[in-house]
Amino acid sequence: MNKKILIMLLGVFFVFLLVTACTKRIDTDDGKEEKKIEFGLVVHGGAGYMTRDRYTPEQDSAYRAKLTEALSVGHKILKDGGTSLECVEKVINILEDSPLFNAGKGAVTTEQGEFELDASIMYGKTNLAGAVAGVKHIKNPISLAKMVMENSKHVMLAREGAEIFAEEQGIDLVDQEYFSVDKDWYKKREKPKSDSETSLIKTEEKFGTVGCAALDKYGDLAAGTSTGGMQDKKFGRIGDSPIIGAGTYAENNSCAVSATGHGEFFIRNVVCYDIAARMKYLNETLAKSADEVVMKKLKQQGGDGGIISIDKLGNIEMVFNTSGMFRGYVTDNGEIVVKIYEDE
Ligand code: ASP
Repeated sequence: MNKKILIMLLGVFFVFLLVTACTKRIDTDDGKEEKKIEFGLVVHGGAGYMTRDRYTPEQDSAYRAKLTEALSVGHKILKDGGTSLECVEKVINILEDSPLFNAGKGAVTTEQGEFELDASIMYGKTNLAGAVAGVKHIKNPISLAKMVMENSKHVMLAREGAEIFAEEQGIDLVDQEYFSVDKDWYKKREKPKSDSETSLIKTEEKFGTVGCAALDKYGDLAAGTSTGGMQDKKFGRIGDSPIIGAGTYAENNSCAVSATGHGEFFIRNVVCYDIAARMKYLNETLAKSADEVVMKKLKQQGGDGGIISIDKLGNIEMVFNTSGMFRGYVTDNGEIVVKIYEDE
């Protein structure tokens, strides 16, 4: 063989070896991708038009403190070897029990002034899911959704049927009064005309659907969402939160997702499933997929809201097309990150 050609071939081979070695791949010997973190979780407490000037310092720090508490409880569960499913339920329980959010205590009301709550949960390990819709006397709808998943042959139970099931499961029902909170505290400030002005907007607008997505030490994903729905919704209206694929989705070979926002858009676009499907079928990263769905598709339609997600490798995304979203995450290193506005 011509010496020149031989040198060229060797050169090409050398470049090939170099490129292969430099390409940061995370394949193990058996061809499976390795997790980047041992475990982690991400939460949201609703997306909406949150800007710094609309919350008092007291409100701002109360939200941050509650999200931090929820994340640290979730972190401990996962660190101690708990499952992602257990983590999602317990983290959401904390947010449901807090009057700050639009889920459980503190939920918004229907046109008739009643509380009708929706929730769903999905376990990526088994692909099983549970949901409840329009329940009026359940303190922790996410726990009832988990019971539907684990102790019934159905995926979703609604209204009285769900509450009868709850009683059969030994859950005590609560009065509607339990969900009601001092609304004045939650009123947001009008955009102040000067820094010192703090007048309150006379509206009942309240964000705060809650959700959690987690990856555990065993490589299993789970996601859950709980809400009071949309303020002044029609009696009987069901949003995206209890609909598997729209408001919640988890499967071990892609990601776990929980959504918040204008539910009708999230239902029509099957948002959470779409994000997982794009990863599987188009081979997109979680970041790309979430961006395509939330920042392009939904935004073009005027579908306000956002998602939080963790994928099978531990990549975390918190994406929203509104001005803010109560959100945060923690991974195995225990460092908690909590944000409300666009950047902070
Ligand atoms: N997605 C919820 C619903 O439409 C509301 C929200 O997340 O703010 O019921």
